Amino acid sequence: MDAVIIKNGYVVDPEAATIEKKEIGILRGKFADPSLVKSHGGQVDYINANAAFVAPGFIDIHTHVFKDYTDLGVEADKIGISQGVTTIVDAGSTGINHYETFRQQVIETSETEVLAFLNISKEGLCNGRAELANMDDLMEIIEATNIFETQSSIIGLKARMSGSVVKDNGIQPLLHARKLADALNVPIMVHIGNPPPLIEEILPLLKKGDIVTHAFHGKQKNKIITSHQTLIPEAVNCLDRGVLFDVGHGTASFSFATLSIYKEKYQYPFSISSDLHIRNYEKPVGSLMQTMSKIRGLGFSLLEVVEAVTIKPAKTLHLIEQGTFAYGTRADVTLFYEKEMCTELIDSEGYPLIVEKVIEPYITIRAGRKVFECNGGTKSNRN
Ligand SMILES: [Zn+2]
Repeated sequence: MDAVIIKNGYVVDPEAATIEKKEIGILRGKFADPSLVKSHGGQVDYINANAAFVAPGFIDIHTHVFKDYTDLGVEADKIGISQGVTTIVDAGSTGINHYETFRQQVIETSETEVLAFLNISKEGLCNGRAELANMDDLMEIIEATNIFETQSSIIGLKARMSGSVVKDNGIQPLLHARKLADALNVPIMVHIGNPPPLIEEILPLLKKGDIVTHAFHGKQKNKIITSHQTLIPEAVNCLDRGVLFDVGHGTASFSFATLSIYKEKYQYPFSISSDLHIRNYEKPVGSLMQTMSKIRGLGFSLLEVVEAVTIKPAKTLHLIEQGTFAYGTRADVTLFYEKEMCTELIDSEGYPLIVEKVIEPYITIRAGRKVFECNGGTKSNRN
């Protein structure tokens, strides 16, 4: 399909902050002006959106897709294109020791675009989940330099800063990650969880462009919210510096209550990611779209939740081909419905939320080519 027009869709444009009925043009895999596509001289294929919403391809910046090599890995396309997600970022499943296998077995074999935050532990999650318990396992700057220069799919570092991961090392692995990130000029995605280290030690080390995943967890300790329902000062300072807070739903890391307080009192942007893996795929996470439905249910607008899976992560991570309809960029597109359906969804704490609308995939397009269509017959509430 050289020339494609997507018609009859409600286009959600996160850059223009608009939702309007219009056509999207694609020429040789890139977005183009629809009038140019129609007049280019060759055959034009039409994709009927059937009143679905049409957005730039969704990005999920926290997943685990190193199937067969880690105990968490889920198949990339199962949580990617089949769920309307065109780009997924594996968050530290692999370290430098297994990256070549990851590239061959996952990146090369998936229709979904797979990028990676490289674990600062050389083993990543291939050898258990206490990967930062031994400082000798951390990647050196000289090792990291070569792989970051040659592998464009690696977009940053992952440091999981929980007591169960770092054991007696406390904040030390993050100090090392800081050195690596500064030397390589790449972002760090930091996972927060139970201490040690304390969140008050972690957040001051982060710089503009870094990402805090599991930011809205509801654990007893290390929360971004105080008992007075305000953000801790370290979180405010961090957000003011341009650090991005990310949902990273996961099995134990997303609380409706925490995000509700954030919404009520603060206007900082955030990104939505799933932390999907083989053990939370059914429950409580489901999918990136289900996570977006939950956040919609907390009162965020459709535009806000789409921004949080397109332009927000793309801008932070300097992904210039993703999260946009800009002419000339790669035409990854997510068509989805927002189905009127009263249902109960839960957070990682098991708290229920009644939502009245559920976001569901319809068609997924990668580089101008239709790679998935849901035959479930679900229709939007728009018409
Ligand atoms: Zn994770």
